[in-house]
Amino acid sequence: MTSKTYTVTAINIKSINYGEADKIITVFTKEDGILKVIAKGVRRISSKFGARIDLLHCNRLFLTKGKNLDVMSQAETHVHFPAFRKDYDKLMQALYWAELIYVFCNEGEALPEIFDLFLNSLDILQKGTQMPLLYTLWFELKLLEHIGYSCNFTHCVSCERVITREIENFYFDLTSGGILCPSCQVLFKNIKPITRELYLTLRKLKQFSSNDISSVSINEKVEKNIECIQDFYQTYVCYLAEKKLKTISFLEDSKI
Ligand SMILES: [Zn+2]
Repeated sequence: MTSKTYTVTAINIKSINYGEADKIITVFTKEDGILKVIAKGVRRISSKFGARIDLLHCNRLFLTKGKNLDVMSQAETHVHFPAFRKDYDKLMQALYWAELIYVFCNEGEALPEIFDLFLNSLDILQKGTQMPLLYTLWFELKLLEHIGYSCNFTHCVSCERVITREIENFYFDLTSGGILCPSCQVLFKNIKPITRELYLTLRKLKQFSSNDISSVSINEKVEKNIECIQDFYQTYVCYLAEKKLKTISFLEDSKI
């Protein structure tokens, strides 16, 4: 006899209201990747789920197989991130990460390493004392590496020549996700020039472990350029996603 209930560890990444009092919650689970589940009656004040249905909350979920969507029958907090409630910048970055997971990970495909990266990175962001954007850049680099879009910053992506730090003008090829040497850059059309500072920062960040990024301190020059670095990197992310992410538009609107 097959069990109609099962448990997963899941981070809430998206939710929409459904019917009179329900919500359809998209969760990123360690066991089954992305799942859409229905949480019944959770918009009523008397709901037993409370903050456990909030975005970015990580729960141990007890799910019952349903006809269309599986039903959330019980949720126990596994990890939560109270710092995001008090820090708008951190919250917005974390929601952007959740959208990256939604866009780049597939429904029903278990990606336990990415789950651990996401959960660990949320904790680093929650505790971090540096600009939230710095952690975002690191998270993007690591996420893309896990899903097969690892950026090559050490060798020319075309001729494989070693890229030395002495080169004056760097060009990033959006199609292959890497740096082009001066001889190859003329052969490619989908390229973006990047500054030396940006190149060195991305190269350094890519090598950082979670311990490195947790204890990192950045110099003033990098801090001043971090928005420009992230603008550049978001262009690459949107190119891969083949669309502009909703949270990016929201972040841009909130700057005005
Ligand atoms: Zn080359």
